[in-house]
Formats: sequence, structure tokens, C-alpha cells
Amino acid sequence: MKKRILRVASALALIVVLLLWQAPWRKTPFTVSSVGMGTVISLTLYGAGEEEANELFALFDRLEKTTSFHLENSALSALNTTGETREEALLDEARVCLEVFEASGGALDPTVGVLTALWRIGLDDARVPDESEITAALALVDASRMRLTDTELTVGEGQKADFGAVGKGYACDLAQAYLADTSCRGAVVSVGGSLLFWGSGASQTWTAAIRHPFDPKAYAGTLSLTGGFVSTSGDYERVLKTDEGAFAHILDPKTGHPAQSGLSSVTVIARTGALSDALSTACFVLGKDKARELLTRFDAQGVLIAQDGAVTLVGAPAFTLTAEDLLL
Ligand code: ADP
Ligand code: MG
Repeated sequence: MKKRILRVASALALIVVLLLWQAPWRKTPFTVSSVGMGTVISLTLYGAGEEEANELFALFDRLEKTTSFHLENSALSALNTTGETREEALLDEARVCLEVFEASGGALDPTVGVLTALWRIGLDDARVPDESEITAALALVDASRMRLTDTELTVGEGQKADFGAVGKGYACDLAQAYLADTSCRGAVVSVGGSLLFWGSGASQTWTAAIRHPFDPKAYAGTLSLTGGFVSTSGDYERVLKTDEGAFAHILDPKTGHPAQSGLSSVTVIARTGALSDALSTACFVLGKDKARELLTRFDAQGVLIAQDGAVTLVGAPAFTLTAEDLLL
């Protein structure tokens, strides 16, 4: 009898210790922000801490060194010089890009690299290229000349791959795969405009605030979700301002110029981070009506904010408009 009481007591003690040990994580997540992948990365981890955060930052760092369009010794730069690669991250990114390239009628085109290298929007030496330069570059933009197998990716002669449209979302996919193997039970991972909401935190639902495209300090509204991947593409983040006007960093592969579809911000919820990122960029190029078709095709949800302030929801996301100058 005594032994049994002892056993129950020690089991109870263990449970109390475990609860005490978990309690701080339960309400107070470990949060940290840093700069990486050319943007701000923020982590909110429940049931995990500094060690996991450092692993994630190291993972993002490796990904950037592999997939960066601007780093001379990245595997992507090697692809753009030699025409071929076997690097897994690049094959993964190409797979998603090619799927959305086909489905969007070329609005998302990962061979847009010759054009991004001309405009350089977001970099210090951004400029408006001559029309003749744009015409010459356009001849090299066509992702149907890319070849992708299970083990190899090649680009056509003179083409330059740029997977910038999916990189941050893909980073969120890798983050989820990593966290699933740790003690972490809930997390928000934010890599620039792409977010992962995973597991459970202070409650079962997460809330994502969508930036107001006309006012960087304000919010358009909030999205409520139980988990998943959310990416936003907007015309307000990386912009080249000249006397001729303001030019955003998403290019229309048909014209060679910054996309002008009437949309100012596109937020997409999809089944993977790379897909949400690819779709948000493609929708930004396509404009409201074709964006709706594309998102429906991928069973994705969207919040589209037009330059005139009109908000369109696709696939019934749980969105609450909070900005008074926007109209749903
Ligand atoms: P961000 O990277 O700022 O989050 P996006 O996900 O919308 O924004 O991706 C924009 C990036 O994608 C650009 O910086 C460029 O590298 C690349 N890009 C621009 N236009 C296109 C396009 N039409 N198709 C594919 N990639 C594009
Ligand atoms: Mg994108």
C-alpha cells in the first residue's frame, strides 16, 4: 500500500514538475527577430527556445546562400552561368514556379531574371532601363524553355532564373519541416511577406494582420486561421521612385515593365509556403478577375486590395476589415 502511494505521489510530482516546466512556454513564447534572406525574419516559438531559433536562422542562412540571385557564389548563380543545377532547394522552388507559370499563363515566370537584373528594383542602383534593353531581355523570358527532372534543372541559352517570388514562402516550408521534429508545439515564422502559422500557441487560432497598402504604419484588417501559410505581395515594399513615377518590384513578363494590374496588395493562404508565395506574386500581375480564377484552381484563399481601396475576398477567408478607408 505504502509503495503504491509512493508511486502515485512520485507520478504526481513528475506531472507537477512537467506542468511547471511547460508553464512558461505555454503563455510566453520565445520570440526573436533578425535580418536574413534580404528581409526581417521573426520567430515566435511555443515549447522551444533559443536553440531551435538558432537552427532556424542557420537554415535560412544556408537557403539564402544557395538560392540568392545576387550572391555571386550561390548555387542559383552557378545555374545562371552554367545552365544547370542539381541543388535540391532550387529543384523544389522551380517545381512550384513551373506549376504556377503554366496555370497563370506566364504571369509568374521564373526566367524573369534577365529583367530583374535590368531594373534592379530594391537595390541601390535601380533604374528605368531603355526600351531597347527591355525588348532584348524579353526574348529570354520564357519558362517553357526550362527543363526540370527529379534530379536536374536546366535553363535555356542566355536565360536567368530568379526564384525570388517563392524564396520566402519556401523558407516557411523548410521551417515547418524542421519544427515538426522538435519539441516545439506551436510557432509563427515570419520571413518578410511570408508567414507560417503552425500548431497551437496561446489558443487554437492565430491572427494575422494584413498591412494597409497605402499606409505602412496601419493595418487593412485581420485574418484568423488555425494554421497554414500566408504570403503577401504588394506594391509598397520595394519601389523605385523617379520623376516618371513609382515602380514596384513585381514585373509583368509580357511587357517587361512593373506590373500594373490595379492591385496594390495580394494576400494568399495556400497549402504550402512556396505555393502561397508564388500565387501572391502571380495574382499581383494578373489583376482581380484572373487572380480569382487562379486561386480557385489551387483551392487557395485570397484577400485582394485594389489601388482604389476596393477589397475582394476569394475562397471565403476569415478576414475582418479594420481600415475605414477601404471598402469590402
Ligand atoms: P517579395 O520577395 O518582396 O516578398 P514577391 O514574393 O512578390 O515579393 O516576389 C517578388 C520577387 O520575385 C522580385 O523581387 C523578383 O525577384 C521576382 N519577380 C518579379 N516579378 C516576377 C514575375 N512576374 N514572375 C516571377 N518572379 C518575379
Ligand atoms: Mg511571392
